[in-house]
Amino acid sequence: MNIVEKSVPGYERVLYAEDPASGYRGVIAIHNTVRGPGVGGTRFWNYSSLDDAIQDALRLSRGMTYKNALAELPCGGGKSIIIGDNKTTDREKIFRAHGRFVESLRGQYITAEDVGTSPADMEHVRQETNHVAGLQDRSGDPSPRTARGVFRAMQAAARHCWGNDDLSGKTVAIQGCGHVGHYLAGELHGVGARLIISDVDQERNRTTASAFNATVVAPEEIYSVDADIFAPCALGGIINDQTIPALRVQIVNGGANNQLLEPRHGDMLEQRGILYSPDYAANAGGIISGSCIEMMGWDVPRMLAKVDAIYDTLLKIFALAESEHITAYKAADKLAEERLLK
Ligand code: NAD
Repeated sequence: MNIVEKSVPGYERVLYAEDPASGYRGVIAIHNTVRGPGVGGTRFWNYSSLDDAIQDALRLSRGMTYKNALAELPCGGGKSIIIGDNKTTDREKIFRAHGRFVESLRGQYITAEDVGTSPADMEHVRQETNHVAGLQDRSGDPSPRTARGVFRAMQAAARHCWGNDDLSGKTVAIQGCGHVGHYLAGELHGVGARLIISDVDQERNRTTASAFNATVVAPEEIYSVDADIFAPCALGGIINDQTIPALRVQIVNGGANNQLLEPRHGDMLEQRGILYSPDYAANAGGIISGSCIEMMGWDVPRMLAKVDAIYDTLLKIFALAESEHITAYKAADKLAEERLLK
């Protein structure tokens, strides 16, 4: 395996690896290890260039530093990327190569699932390194916990917006019915919310629609449907100049990382009177589950209570934003930076 290290200001380590024997190409970015090793999942995606993959790893690993600090976990921020078609059936050699790349960092970076990867893929990673979380016989798939946290954040946003947590009868538009989106749909269906969903993968639309009585719309229509809440649960950058004017909701609260294309889009949302739950505050349930069980040795009820407490974190963020006359995403950054300094 050929590994090349790149110096990027503001990041502790950024590395690119190629393994010609398996066709593997990957990136690992470690943003900050002040609170502990860089922890963040592996994204498997067909980037159009290596530069795009590196930029995504940089954004995502920085987001993990903030997410882990805000959740008060003993973890820093890191993220990895595998460049390629995530639908490939030839997975073992790719994920074993990724495991060797992770192992080369000797614990400075710990990986887990993210877009395009599953607990089964992490089993291949485990054959090469111990620095992997989210395994079936340890904390398991993080997605149900992530979805639970997103649901709790949504209840907090509902309280802030409408005076109570009740989501029954509210319409939620979910973009992406993958691991997080599907479980989030389940949580919402369970409390009587109405669901509008959209995935580029028709099979996923069918599965989620039939399980939770959801209405399916085309991918480009999900931004402009008549709903109370928009829940981005696919890729990042989808809150931008094109989509903000189309939104007809009062809250944006989802599981996707890096929902704002640029920070100013958080301001644009608030100017339109739309409350934004900062993504890394809302979607911390998965990392809380992995680190509380696998790094801190907590039992499941204690971990679940911490996931549910995302509700309180969000209320704190909204209150800080109000008292300091700043947007919610800036209030989240402020709290996270305070915890990073501590
Ligand atoms: P996933 O790969 O299981 O699901 C993503 C889904 O989005 C797929 O079904 C895909 O077809 C769909 N999609 C992609 N582009 C789309 C588009 N333009 N319109 C509609 N659907 C589209 O991934 P996941 O694990 O569910 O993660 C979803 C998001 O949540 C990602 O941004 C991820 O980084 C974030 N996240 C996930 C976790 C976790 O525990 N899995 C934790 C924190 C954050």
